[in-house]
Amino acid sequence: MSHLDPERLALVAIGEPVAPDEEHHLETCDVCTLDLAELEHTVAVGKSTVSLGDLEAPPERVWDRILHEVRGGGEAVAELAPDDAADSATRTPAATAPVAAGTQTDASSRRRPRPLLRTLLTLAAGMAVIFVGFGAWNLLRPPESIEIASATLAAFPEHPGAEGQAFVTEDPDGERTVTVRLDASEEGDGFREVWLITADATAIVSLGELEGDEGTFVVPDDVDLRDYVLVDISQEPLDGDPTHSGDSIVRGELGFS
Ligand SMILES: [Zn+2]
Repeated sequence: MSHLDPERLALVAIGEPVAPDEEHHLETCDVCTLDLAELEHTVAVGKSTVSLGDLEAPPERVWDRILHEVRGGGEAVAELAPDDAADSATRTPAATAPVAAGTQTDASSRRRPRPLLRTLLTLAAGMAVIFVGFGAWNLLRPPESIEIASATLAAFPEHPGAEGQAFVTEDPDGERTVTVRLDASEEGDGFREVWLITADATAIVSLGELEGDEGTFVVPDDVDLRDYVLVDISQEPLDGDPTHSGDSIVRGELGFS
């Protein structure tokens, strides 16, 4: 009896509907049923991100072309040599369907899928792994914080030559942080402190001590940056007084993006 064409089996394995006569043959033929099961396993392996199973490694040049296409090349198929076995394999399964549809071959030409067919399936499996991998990477990648405001910090007369910048970022949870950079000559004693001040200077909140010339500080939840628009870095003496010393090094007003 004549078995199902291996390319038909491959298309069934990747999801094409089974024709009634093919279904009838599969019900009675262990050889074709086993081959179909093998092909379905290959497809399943290709779709799995957890277990790579016994997935065949495609030739190096095939990977190169997949990567080239994934990176936006697109001319890879056109560059293939006509005699390259991977040529047909890089086309979509649909492109091979007209050749395969409805055809059957005698027993001598089947038993095992042809090398070309295996290449096609391996390539499809490989591409599935790549695209699923990209999807997972997009899901696992930490969401990005966005910059919502920035300020240029200008020197006070007592600190000529000093300058600085401030950037406010907000992460996806809504937490805001201020990053300040200060370029100023070292003072003798004491330390530097970062502050947020309202435009009318009636309220002030300390963000913390600036160690070195750059620091990142969490903005308290109850601080509205639309009110506390001034970023200030002060020189503080070691006097135990938590209030602003009045000796500002630089200050600037936040501009919102
Ligand atoms: Zn059969």
